[in-house]
Amino acid sequence: MISIYRVGVQLLTVLQNLIPISKFKTSFVREPYLHILKTDNLRKHMTAVRTVSHKLEIETGRYTNTPRIDRKCKLCSMNVVESEFHFLLICPKYNILRRLYVPHRAWPTLQYFHKLLSSENKKTIINTAKFIMYATQCRDDAIIQFVIMSLNTCKPILAETVYTITCDAS
Ligand SMILES: [Zn+2]
Repeated sequence: MISIYRVGVQLLTVLQNLIPISKFKTSFVREPYLHILKTDNLRKHMTAVRTVSHKLEIETGRYTNTPRIDRKCKLCSMNVVESEFHFLLICPKYNILRRLYVPHRAWPTLQYFHKLLSSENKKTIINTAKFIMYATQCRDDAIIQFVIMSLNTCKPILAETVYTITCDAS
């Protein structure tokens, strides 16, 4: 049963690009975070990052066939792909939240990233889930602002286009 499970995870990794789940899910057991996180909202946000069902550019870019390298973070000036790693450990947009919920590390590593998301320590699980939940809310608000600003920037162009069309029509 376990070997079938492992083959399944490997196939998913290859077929659906679900790299993170194969890193976090190393044994065929109920994950501790599922019973440690008491509220649906915290569980939902932790699960979203672990199973790559979130709204980060690295994932949403797949829907629009955006090349992986162009799936950049819109919320900082680092000009890097908005991956789960960037979201959780790097992006300066969430530095205040990170100081509150993610134990300080001098240098973020993939090993530390995987350790945070597959931890069995209650405090680490709760704090990581809180970080993901609050950072996601912060990100959603910032993306809305980003879209509004983009629309405002486009207004003169749209007005000019409409004017030009009106002139051509008369
Ligand atoms: Zn960023």
